[in-house]
Amino acid sequence: MQLTETETSWQKIVRDFAQKKLKPGTYWLEGEEFWENARMLAEHGFLGVTLPEEYGGMNLSLLDALLIIEELCRVCPTSGRLVYHTSIGIANFINHLGTEEQKKKYLPRIISGELFVALGMSEPEAGSATTDLTTTATDAGDYYKLNGSKIFISEAHLADLFVVYVRFGNTGRASDIGAILVERNTPGFTVGVNEENMSGEIQCALYFDDALVPKENLLIERDAFKALMGVYNGVRLGYAAQTLGITQAAFDRTVQYVQERKQFGKEICEFQGVQWMIADMYMQLEAARTLLYRAAQAAANNKPDKNAVSIAKVYVAEAAKKITDDCLQLHGGYGFSKQYPLEWYYRCVRAASIAGGTLQVHKTMMAASVLGRKFDQRK
Ligand SMILES: Cc1cc2nc3c(=O)[nH]c(=O)nc-3n(C[C@H](O)[C@H](O)[C@H](O)COP(=O)(O)OP(=O)(O)OC[C@H]3O[C@@H](n4cnc5c(N)ncnc54)[C@H](O)[C@@H]3O)c2cc1C
Repeated sequence: MQLTETETSWQKIVRDFAQKKLKPGTYWLEGEEFWENARMLAEHGFLGVTLPEEYGGMNLSLLDALLIIEELCRVCPTSGRLVYHTSIGIANFINHLGTEEQKKKYLPRIISGELFVALGMSEPEAGSATTDLTTTATDAGDYYKLNGSKIFISEAHLADLFVVYVRFGNTGRASDIGAILVERNTPGFTVGVNEENMSGEIQCALYFDDALVPKENLLIERDAFKALMGVYNGVRLGYAAQTLGITQAAFDRTVQYVQERKQFGKEICEFQGVQWMIADMYMQLEAARTLLYRAAQAAANNKPDKNAVSIAKVYVAEAAKKITDDCLQLHGGYGFSKQYPLEWYYRCVRAASIAGGTLQVHKTMMAASVLGRKFDQRK
């Protein structure tokens, strides 16, 4: 797929910015390193790039945002993730579904890097089966009273605001599900302890125990599932862009390494077996990129290509596992060592097969579409 001149210029601008201004990271940055890069991104306008200009954003397209995330992740995955969260990730729920008051209240602070937002969707008993969620929001005068819990919430340790999927009715159907904005200091709401996942990323549980949320924080009520999933598809593509950028970083290092490392008296890139691995990885990266950009374009043009997101998501996740594994392999014992970043890249991209819907769930949706049949998962 051919990128436009503007799109390729974004890639160059971001590559240059990332190399010159950001603290590089081959692990998730924390503490002062994290804030240093967050400040730098905010100062240069990279937080909330797709959000409207009237709130301080740049109103960039989904594809522009994916290109920026991918480029940043090649140098600093934490920075790419920050742009993903503030641009096409969680902040977009407010941008697309929020009231004017909510947008005015929250979007400028997200763009300036003052406010972080997390998504509370998954529950201990409702993962792939999102519509089984049981966290309830009941009417309590000027408030909604929330009860229930969430699990695996990324960035919850940093977030001041949470987009929370809740059930407003008790029919047990998906039509009861909507979403509400919960501020961190809400009475009855607690963020659980920091739990480190396989890549070292922090995730937390969320607990709602008669948590009182003002009614003006309602984001979308009932019959909202389709609208929520529409925004969530952007989140999925953002996650894929992040995964692709991290995979490209592993590949970049490997291309350099095979031309430096010598065995049997010559650079290992001179062995045909190594060359074929490089060519395979290169092909998979190009294919993954094409599918991702195609999905972004389809979404931007409102084309009803409902499989494009699943195809991109699944392909990127599978290619990322294979490529980072081969990159690690080509580094030999150094690849397996914690002294080098290959094993981190390998652990990092593994999440893409689970977060944003597991590969199996996306394949089930694609198969149903190809076969023209609906397969009831409950029978
Ligand atoms: C790194 C990471 C970050 C995350 N961040 C967030 C976040 O910020 N906010 C949030 O709300 N959630 C988040 N999640 C949770 C994520 O959305 C869930 O883990 C995911 O939806 C899968 O749910 P589960 O873990 O309960 O697995 P389950 O749904 O229990 O699945 C277990 C296994 O069964 C398979 N399976 C289930 N149903 C079917 C089916 N119908 N057909 C075939 N196979 C099936 C799955 O593919 C999987 O292999 C994150 C997860 C990860 C790994």
